[in-house]
Amino acid sequence: MSLGNPFEGKEIWFAVGSQDLYGEDTLREVAAQSKDIADTLNASGKIPFPVVLKPTLKDSDSIKEFMIAASADPNCIGVVAWMHTFSPAKMWIRGLEQLKKPLLQLNTQHHLEIPWETMDMDFMNLNQSAHGDREFGYIVTRLGIRRKIVVGHYTDPEVAEKIGTWSRACAGWDAANTMKVMRWGDNMRNVAVTEGDKTEAERVFGVSVNTWPVNELVDAVNAVTDDEVKELIEEYKKEYDVAPELLGDRYDSLVTAAREELGMRHMLDANGATAAVDNFEDLGALHQLPGVGAQRLMELGYGFSAEGDWKTSVMVRIGNVMGYGLDGGASLMEDYSYNWVPGKEKILGSHMLEVNPALGTVDKPKLEIHPLGIGGKEDPVRIVFTVKPKKDVVVVSMADMRERFRLVMNVVDVVEPDGSLKALPTPRALWAPRPSLKVSAQSWLTAGAAHHTCMTTSVGREVWEDFARIAGVELATIDENTTVPQFEQDLRVNEVFYRLNEKF
Ligand code: MN
Repeated sequence: MSLGNPFEGKEIWFAVGSQDLYGEDTLREVAAQSKDIADTLNASGKIPFPVVLKPTLKDSDSIKEFMIAASADPNCIGVVAWMHTFSPAKMWIRGLEQLKKPLLQLNTQHHLEIPWETMDMDFMNLNQSAHGDREFGYIVTRLGIRRKIVVGHYTDPEVAEKIGTWSRACAGWDAANTMKVMRWGDNMRNVAVTEGDKTEAERVFGVSVNTWPVNELVDAVNAVTDDEVKELIEEYKKEYDVAPELLGDRYDSLVTAAREELGMRHMLDANGATAAVDNFEDLGALHQLPGVGAQRLMELGYGFSAEGDWKTSVMVRIGNVMGYGLDGGASLMEDYSYNWVPGKEKILGSHMLEVNPALGTVDKPKLEIHPLGIGGKEDPVRIVFTVKPKKDVVVVSMADMRERFRLVMNVVDVVEPDGSLKALPTPRALWAPRPSLKVSAQSWLTAGAAHHTCMTTSVGREVWEDFARIAGVELATIDENTTVPQFEQDLRVNEVFYRLNEKF
């Protein structure tokens, strides 16, 4: 049970452009050099998918065929295009118009150094990507097709790194377009920012968001066997420092929590759903608001968010996929409290229960039980920990701005708390937002960004930038260079740009 490896079987297709003008000998060299580049990228260890070299593309028909095949193949998550020679770009129009997968334009060449003493006309004919890539760049821009551009010699580690980052965004896009989000209950009453247009979400991100009755979840929880529960409790004991009372006189509460986790996982898997939300206002006959179970859904790779906030659940799933195999994780996070002490300005983020320990913890996470003031249910079991310090972490929020979605990202540094927080019975993270708490918060509020975010400690800003570009969705970033007037002006420009570019 549980989710498989989301990268399994996925590929990046490598399209090399040329034309028939140069003759067979040259084209043989084109193919050999292209193979060299693909092999080098594959050996770099920085791209978590095979880069699959396809036959050199030389004319309009074969380009169109390639693009249709790439678009239709469920294993192909993105296309890297490189013009080895000059490939007249009108030949690419029909094909590019068919492409439905993310595109990366690689601007590289085979030789590192110009052969100063031997360079002749033959060499120049063969090695002219500087020329060919500009022709290709023109047509992609003219067609208004979004792509990532990576420039540099193919042996430069940064080139493979950037392709690798983009490929993770492609996997996130692939996961979005196959995602089913299971809603147990509607959105929390009267909350504005967690609402949104689910039909539009399917058009923009490909995510299918639907509701299932909470009592169906109750049935799934009740159907869990005692053996499964015992096995899971053994796993809890290995992974977490379990509070003695949970193994003593409050053992029943632990059993309930484990049963709820298994019920949620069974129901998600039975329906092919990879993300979920619940709502403490609508728990039906569930005994506890899911705590440890919700946290472990995220830890296992599912999307999850509380209070019916399916948009954040979508991002947690995407974040989990994009960061697959890396140190760290993706989690629901919520801004809770500021520390205004001069020189120590920070934000304490947490949630009632639902924070993912895969974000990284200082100590072994503790499994504890405490009362919860809201929801009117039994005390929930939850994993309690402090997220360990890390630089270049991001929090990303999604807001529905009526006719479109807006992503807002803050680059932050997770830091150590200034005190023990020993009385706080929830998982938490403390971070210093860039460029400062004041500028970050003012910008965040100006953008109308949400109080719920997806925090990723596995992947940073670039993968989210690549993802937003692929999705064609606005991403406003608050980082070390942000000033409030410039940010406000950027938002105004974005308002115009995204309205002009909306599909209706
Ligand atoms: Mn909340």
